[in-house]
Amino acid sequence: MNKILVFAEHRDGEIKKSTFEVISLAGQLGGSAGVEFITILIGKDTPGIEDELAGYGATDIIKYNNDNLALYNAENFAQILADAAQEQSADVILLPATAMGKDLAPRVAARLNAGVATDCIAVSWQDGDLKIIRPMYAGKVRTTIKLHSDIKVITVRPNVYPAQEAPATANVTEKNAETKDFRAMVEEIIKGAEEKLDVTEADIVVSGGRGLKGPENFHLIADLAKKLGAAQGASRAVVDAGWRPYEEQVGQTGKTVSPSLYIAVAISGAIQHLAGMSSSKYIVAINKDPEAPIFKIADYGIVGDAFEVVPKLIEVL
Ligand code: FAD
Repeated sequence: MNKILVFAEHRDGEIKKSTFEVISLAGQLGGSAGVEFITILIGKDTPGIEDELAGYGATDIIKYNNDNLALYNAENFAQILADAAQEQSADVILLPATAMGKDLAPRVAARLNAGVATDCIAVSWQDGDLKIIRPMYAGKVRTTIKLHSDIKVITVRPNVYPAQEAPATANVTEKNAETKDFRAMVEEIIKGAEEKLDVTEADIVVSGGRGLKGPENFHLIADLAKKLGAAQGASRAVVDAGWRPYEEQVGQTGKTVSPSLYIAVAISGAIQHLAGMSSSKYIVAINKDPEAPIFKIADYGIVGDAFEVVPKLIEVL
């Protein structure tokens, strides 16, 4: 291996926690194999971001600055990353498996004729090559894979690797990136009134299911989440019913989460739901049906009525 490249995702001047996780992983991989890693930062003005990245061990940062890069654009970002990889002779490119990372990884891989492994949950060295573990078939199996291409593009599932502080001083090289004309341009991103924790990044997620009977009862989930500093999630049944917004949906056709603690309230545990949360470290299920499939993967289970159990939990907390 020659060099590892890490893509530093940030939005509105804020670095994604998953970026620090990927930097920590790059530090581990690089350190154990004597391979250098470089962090690629793309944006318009990014004050202070380099120092934050350095706090997690990013000692070499290449910063691509340009007015056209103020907002994310897949084509330009992918081209810059691919050009940087070639310029640096990098053979491993790590990105967080966030919406942006998932959007970029195949585009970068296509430009570099590289193999790509997405949503990986473990990356390590084995006999001088990278051993990668990723879930397949909606989380039913975990496969160990090796990419045989010269360049390997890998996205890493958020919350799988801890972000480890490793204060360092960054050596920052600034470059003016060439950008193409846009086919489409995002002019403004309007945020919702509520600042919500992102379900994919939260350390604790409390999700509610159809057993809660109606949208008026989801204050139970919100109150429990608030007590725990958790993000709020939902099953597809409740999202389809319009009780909760799609951004909260966990599962095969929703988001994949890997928190330290996942609390499933009145969720049956259909395979499509499990696909999005089975890699959580601890799973707690609250369900009145002792035969509910969610109990098969739960570390702790409470067989009981959510309308009695959840208020008690909130009270105790
Ligand atoms: P239900 O299956 O209706 O379960 C409700 C549960 O609540 C039951 O176990 C019941 O015992 C319990 N309950 C009822 N009352 C109480 C009470 N008072 N106290 C405690 N427990 C109670 N689903 C997802 O979640 N995410 C996905 O991304 C997703 N993608 C899908 C993709 C495809 C292609 C398909 C076909 C399906 C997908 N689904 C997905 C749907 C999935 O199959 C299930 O239908 C869905 O997860 C069920 O949601 P639920 O558990 O909330 O509801």
